[in-house]
Amino acid sequence: MKLLPRVDPKRIQQRLEELGRYGRNEQGGIDRTTFTKAELAARYWLRHELVALHLDVRIDEAANIWARRKGRDESLPVIAFGSHLDSVPNGGMYDGALGVVLALEVMTVLQERGIQTVHPLELVSFSAEEPNPFGLSTFGSRAVSGKLKKKDILSVTDSSGRRLMDALKEAGGDPQRFEDAVRKHDDFSAFLEVHIEQGKRLLEYEIPVGVVTGIAGIYREEVRISGEANHAGTTAMHDRRDALLTAAECILAFEHVIKNYLDQDVAGTVGQFAVKPNATNIIPGEVIFSVDLRSQNRKVIDEILLVWEIRMKEILRSRSAVVHRRVILDQFPVGMCKELIEICEETSGILGYPSLLLGSMAGHDAAHMATLTRTCMIFVPSIDGKSHCPEEKSRIEDIEKTGNVLLNSILAIDERGGGV
Ligand SMILES: [Zn+2]
Repeated sequence: MKLLPRVDPKRIQQRLEELGRYGRNEQGGIDRTTFTKAELAARYWLRHELVALHLDVRIDEAANIWARRKGRDESLPVIAFGSHLDSVPNGGMYDGALGVVLALEVMTVLQERGIQTVHPLELVSFSAEEPNPFGLSTFGSRAVSGKLKKKDILSVTDSSGRRLMDALKEAGGDPQRFEDAVRKHDDFSAFLEVHIEQGKRLLEYEIPVGVVTGIAGIYREEVRISGEANHAGTTAMHDRRDALLTAAECILAFEHVIKNYLDQDVAGTVGQFAVKPNATNIIPGEVIFSVDLRSQNRKVIDEILLVWEIRMKEILRSRSAVVHRRVILDQFPVGMCKELIEICEETSGILGYPSLLLGSMAGHDAAHMATLTRTCMIFVPSIDGKSHCPEEKSRIEDIEKTGNVLLNSILAIDERGGGV
């Protein structure tokens, strides 16, 4: 059996720590929201590392960082891999960063060992994956896959009035030629992204490598319940149109419908809630709340919404309230490529690591890359399932294993070819 190349866990750990210094706050969390000083410094760090490896580094119009390593046959499509450098406010040092550091490690090992692939390889660090002050998440991968247009970014500012166009320029992008960031379907042979699981499944099964079968569809709406604001003392209990109580019942019904649905891969959340006029002595006249519903299966989302709507109608009728619903996001579930899933599973097996097939309930850049090319993700167990917080952590032993699976899966894809 031929000896498979391996990643270096010490170097990975060291780079994770180096990168984890950018945006580190007093609580030990990471404040590295996109296009902030800290995030620009992290970008600079990555570029420096890539240049030191003698890779061909390029910043595209959407400020995504690409680093190309030549293949034996430069006419072949690229095998790409990477993730993102930005974080949520007070986030952790692994979300996104781990995928970039492991991609960097793959390039380092290949350079050190002089391993020549047939296909050209490209590392990518996507801009602005996380929700950010400009309100555009998965910004970079949407630009690359042609889903975000110049007109969508022209007049965007954050709450302080900073223009996205200016922020993008500062990060090395080119807002005037934004749509040139689009890559063609036949540019790529495959895309792989390593990411922390952000859940507890791998940990509970004690399995170090997760191979992702699909990325959940995300459905979001804004629900506005209108009742009638009135005096808290003089309005009789039977004569009220209380928007808050109506909303409370509707939200509990939402949870009830989901919990009764026999599908583990479904999750619903009401995370935003506003009461008007929000005064102690006034019956609430209006409530606005958000709904976030996710599943690997689009039909499940539709069925849940249908049942909830029926329940909601009864509640509204009994409380004489009115509802206005507005769909904010309707992102369909995205399946990962079967061929790549098999390659990642097989590679894991050859390396002697158990792996688990699982769906991702979080959105990722890979969901957009999947519309361009064969795509798969590999998950690393998250300790206590924690993410988007300072406690976010993964064990270096698991990271090392996943790094080896990434490296050798890329080599296996290179050997087998295909994809366009
Ligand atoms: Zn992420």
